[in-house]
Amino acid sequence: MNLFYDPIIASSIKGEIPWSITSLGYKKRKILKSVIEKIEIDTGIPYPDVYVSNTLKILIHESQIQSIIFAHLDFKKFNQLKPIISLSLPTLIYNDKTLLTSILSHELLHYMYMISKSKTGNISSLNQIFGSTLSGSNLVDEILQVNPHTLFKTKKFVMLVTNLHKTLDNPLLHDFFQSQWIAKNLPTKYFTSEKLALTLSTLDLLNLDFPKSILSHSIFSK
Ligand SMILES: [Zn+2]
Repeated sequence: MNLFYDPIIASSIKGEIPWSITSLGYKKRKILKSVIEKIEIDTGIPYPDVYVSNTLKILIHESQIQSIIFAHLDFKKFNQLKPIISLSLPTLIYNDKTLLTSILSHELLHYMYMISKSKTGNISSLNQIFGSTLSGSNLVDEILQVNPHTLFKTKKFVMLVTNLHKTLDNPLLHDFFQSQWIAKNLPTKYFTSEKLALTLSTLDLLNLDFPKSILSHSIFSK
């Protein structure tokens, strides 16, 4: 796993994020790395690259209820499109080890779903699942994940991901993000689920660049 923190430093240079916050996150990288190591040990899967994002994304549902997107599957364009995990800076800073473990374990379920569909899928099956664009509703669609029991060896991780939504729905957590981030005018973006759309062709989806070390995992030979 590579952890990309440079965009946060760049953001501080531009004056978007106070240096005090950037250095809080910088110190927290150690905890993040140890969390990821534990996930790697439990699953036997080398964790995908993690990009820390300076922006807190908030999803506005049709009912006008808002939910914080703590982390999500995203894509970076190199020669090929590479799926990565995007983790927001406030999520990194303000959550403890257990919550970070839950969130990053959860994202791995989406990542592994994407990889399994990309590798075993054909054009028509991928079109059925994602359509011609991978929209916000896909990106945060909780159906699009592998069964935690197939991925995690120990019950602890299965429990963490199973209870994650209950944990994240805590109003205190939302109030905290509101007062510590949004009310301080730190970078925040609001999306409806259609607006969080990525234009990925089916060909893109079939040719996503997954690390060989992950592709060789036994979950794909079952
Ligand atoms: Zn999810």
